[in-house]
Amino acid sequence: MNIRSITAPNPGPFTLDGTRTYLLDDHAVIDPGPAIDSHIDAIRAAMPNLRTIFITHRHADHAPAAIPLKRATNAQIVAPRGVLDETDRIVNDGDVVDALEVIATPGHTSEHVCFLTNDGDLFTGDTILGFGTTAIFPPDGNMADYLRSLHKLRARNPKRIHPAHGPTRDDAVALIDEYIAHRLERERQVLDALARGATTISDMRTLIYPDLDERLHRAAEVQLRAHLIKLQDEGRVPLAFGSWD
Ligand SMILES: [Zn+2]
Repeated sequence: MNIRSITAPNPGPFTLDGTRTYLLDDHAVIDPGPAIDSHIDAIRAAMPNLRTIFITHRHADHAPAAIPLKRATNAQIVAPRGVLDETDRIVNDGDVVDALEVIATPGHTSEHVCFLTNDGDLFTGDTILGFGTTAIFPPDGNMADYLRSLHKLRARNPKRIHPAHGPTRDDAVALIDEYIAHRLERERQVLDALARGATTISDMRTLIYPDLDERLHRAAEVQLRAHLIKLQDEGRVPLAFGSWD
């Protein structure tokens, strides 16, 4: 399978250098991206025989371009439930479409899926990025599910990771291990902050990210909340820490 990508002109704090739309041979795309005309035109020019539009999850930097692309080309949209009303085929864990296996990977969002080829090419959407970490926003985002999804992907022993943001990584298993280690380290820091007397999420954020840019405070606090919810579900943090706003 020939794999190329086109990066949409939507760089930002969560999208890194922009959304990467993957082009598979001449007939399929993964994560068509935002509905920006120049990006849609670039996909159409590169994919004259587009038949299938795969989508990993519902976020606005991944899915919307599927609608104008479908309208222009009659390609079918393949996505998990809850992504777009225009989806032609709703997929579930274990389905295979056009030689891509669907792997359900809830965590970043509840419906998120990854796609795996027989050659070990793994398209991870926002579950694993080419650098940095992904954001887990509760309640739809779920840290416990996310860690299970990372282990599930690792068990498939992929060769390459093609993320929706950031570069393709040839060190797929090592990258997944880094992702798991990073979350476990953060979890340890959350427990440590509680042991040191943090009584609010903002105390915890100050202890764990002492020099963080103020503009990122809220995003960091939401990640800490995601960790706390996991630890509370596991009975490792008292539920009394429930109202942390
Ligand atoms: Zn996303």
